[in-house]
Amino acid sequence: MYSLIVKGARVIDPAQGIDAVADIAVDAGKIVGIGDYAAATASRVVEAGGLIASPGWVDLHVHCFPDIHVFGGDGTLGSVDADTDCGIATGVTTVIDAGTSGAGTWKAFRDLVVDRHTTRVLAFMNVSLMPRSGPRHGDWQNFSQGLTIRMAEEEAEAGVCLGIKVLASQNHCGNLGNIPMQLAVQASRLSGTGLMVHLGEAPPIIQDVLNQMDDGDILTHCFKGTAGNLLGRDRKPLPETLAAVDRGVKFDIGHGKSSFSFDTCRYCLDAGLPIHAISTDIHSANIKGPVFDMATTMSKFLHLGFDLPEVIRLSTVSPAELIHRDHEFGTMHEGREADITLFRVDDGEFPVVDSEGKRETASQMIRPVHTIRAGELVHSAVA
Ligand SMILES: [Zn+2]
Repeated sequence: MYSLIVKGARVIDPAQGIDAVADIAVDAGKIVGIGDYAAATASRVVEAGGLIASPGWVDLHVHCFPDIHVFGGDGTLGSVDADTDCGIATGVTTVIDAGTSGAGTWKAFRDLVVDRHTTRVLAFMNVSLMPRSGPRHGDWQNFSQGLTIRMAEEEAEAGVCLGIKVLASQNHCGNLGNIPMQLAVQASRLSGTGLMVHLGEAPPIIQDVLNQMDDGDILTHCFKGTAGNLLGRDRKPLPETLAAVDRGVKFDIGHGKSSFSFDTCRYCLDAGLPIHAISTDIHSANIKGPVFDMATTMSKFLHLGFDLPEVIRLSTVSPAELIHRDHEFGTMHEGREADITLFRVDDGEFPVVDSEGKRETASQMIRPVHTIRAGELVHSAVA
């Protein structure tokens, strides 16, 4: 007798090399096994014939710290809800908030977001103490390296903080140029945590940003379309881009409102650049388009020619590896917490648009149907 069995889905678990029709048995919140459980009984059976079952999706870049909790709700942080907007209601079982909170607001973020949602919420800590709209890093009073380093280290030990986030862009750095990037690198190294860098408009210029990044550091918005991205005028990778890849810098999509271009993506893929994570950068200004949700973002990569197991790998175990949590989630290995996304892939004609406003027509669209988080069926789409 199990607590839950998913019956008859096409099970795709790239970390285990599984792509086969099978059942998934769950008990006490954990995966018991993938195989033939036709004769087994369970408190709850999810009939999943015709559906695909993958490890619960991991969105490496979201904004889920509604500022109503901290600043009285003037909407400047542009966050969305971790369960209903970007988490379990959209097939995503783990979200990583990409620096909506800094050390100055972290406690509120812990109390009001991390501890109150069914979706697993982890986060990068902003190098600025009190991020808000406008120049988040552009003022010296936004920094306290001692506090940021100490809190990042403590909150990493608590399992919540994954590292430091910096917005390497003029509209966030103001007149401080490369200094917020330098502060973020220092805070990451001295706290022993990770680093996620938002690629934006210069200053700082991309060459300086890349040259400060090392093995395991994550560059988000990697395929943004505007000038000053990973490519030169010849639309080939800059020497600094290739050197960063050789050092082990990781590339995250972070689609967002202005940070993902079909053309840039194709140039980068043609040049052999890697992708390590498909993520949305979802917030209130892009949830009604062009991002919508994780499923739409994943579908864009089917459209770009990736096969379904690879899209799933880049949305599950690969992001989990980037944040060194693949021993906890990102696969349905026996004994892991049972996070499972059940979905279908519809065929048809689906308009998709990138952050540059370029419209293309996709022939497949991923639609989440059921979300299982820690062994519980926590969301089902309305039929
Ligand atoms: Zn973001």
